[in-house]
Amino acid sequence: MQKILITLFLLSSFANAQVDIELPELGDRVSGAISEAEVELLSEQFLQQVYSQAALIVDPIIQEYSELLLYRLSETSLVDDRDFTVILIDDPSLNAFAAPGGIVGINGGLFLNADNESQFASVLCHELAHLSQRHFQRNVLRSQDRNLASALILVSSIAVAIATNNPGAFIAGPAFLQQQSLRYSRAFEREADRFGFENCVASGYDPKAMGEMFENMAALRRFYGDNIPEFLLTHPISSTRVSDAFNAADQLGDIGGVRNSVNYRLIKGRLEADYEELPINAIRIFENKVNTNRNIQNIYGFSRALSLNGRFEESLIQINQLLDMYPKNLILNTTKIEILRESKKYEEALILVNEQLEISPKNYPLTIEKARVLRGLEKTIAAEEILRDTLLRRNSDPSLWFLLSEIQKDNLNVAGYHQSRAEYFILLGQNERALNELQFALKLSQDNFQTFEIIMTKINNLREKLNKRI
Ligand SMILES: [Zn+2]
Repeated sequence: MQKILITLFLLSSFANAQVDIELPELGDRVSGAISEAEVELLSEQFLQQVYSQAALIVDPIIQEYSELLLYRLSETSLVDDRDFTVILIDDPSLNAFAAPGGIVGINGGLFLNADNESQFASVLCHELAHLSQRHFQRNVLRSQDRNLASALILVSSIAVAIATNNPGAFIAGPAFLQQQSLRYSRAFEREADRFGFENCVASGYDPKAMGEMFENMAALRRFYGDNIPEFLLTHPISSTRVSDAFNAADQLGDIGGVRNSVNYRLIKGRLEADYEELPINAIRIFENKVNTNRNIQNIYGFSRALSLNGRFEESLIQINQLLDMYPKNLILNTTKIEILRESKKYEEALILVNEQLEISPKNYPLTIEKARVLRGLEKTIAAEEILRDTLLRRNSDPSLWFLLSEIQKDNLNVAGYHQSRAEYFILLGQNERALNELQFALKLSQDNFQTFEIIMTKINNLREKLNKRI
């Protein structure tokens, strides 16, 4: 099969001149690379492991921000399949990863440790480069043990290590895992730095951001002592790495570039408040922050800290002050709806969410807010409809199936409740539990021929899957 030959002309000192790289093509059996179907199986298994074991950030506002940024960055990357799945891991330590099949994982801690959007983007660009350069596939190519079963064990073990935030999970695995994992060789890391740098500059970010992020990581490494988080283990910061990044930026001269955005500051403030161990302390901490430095990140964090403590009126005062400055900002408007809904002012929330949806139809965080507001108003049928429509676009998000099942429970749609729970368990890879749920749903659907048929087909497909495993 034909190999892809990419010729790249890079601008910076990361590359001296022209670089020819031969990438393994997916489905190239001769060279032993893994096929597209196999990549799909690997990414499915990876997601199941992470979804069933990791604590995830279920927050449509942060999810939407991260997805939009990643898509924007990918436009100037070399990734050809831009069908990404973004997973947000609820962990305050710094980590990000890319796995086969366009999976990009971001720890909450990446937001905490990147000072601005350009630094945050530099890490995502690095991860996009691991994807575009097919480092995972190239690792499999190099290894002795090239069969699918080994690759499956490999991705599972990586997923478990990520989910449990325990790098030791690799070491307990089979011997070959110790050599190959998402820990890439230095050459691959350098390649990811180089391509990531080009990508971030091409998308308009400040070229100095990558070097600055490396400096942050080096400082963190000292801070952690022996208890080093995964990303810092797999991405050791050598002095060459830092100087290469700054040299590359210097070569470009003073070209400026984006450093931060209002939205990044808001998301960072939100997570800073969420990660305060005691919510009650968060109020005091943010009050101090606002008093010493009254910027949008601190005001938003203060508002979040107040709402987390049920002090909704005061929280709204802060959000309204920010809205005076940025009346059209979608994150601020969605947050206002969220606070109104949490304080049970459903009617007011509904008016605002409808207004915003007129401007941004089908916006993900707004639609989820609307479903929740309608649920509060006990308009559960309408809430169910909105979620079903959202699921047409995001049907592999387990948290949405879970929310739908809860709304169906309120709605006394018992057959629907069991079907949604089945979808949820399938995404977690818990097929036996999914089968149980479907059997409940089947019993309740005896009178509805169409639904009965749909459920029956699902049951048969699942049984087939389960038998294959045995
Ligand atoms: Zn890397």
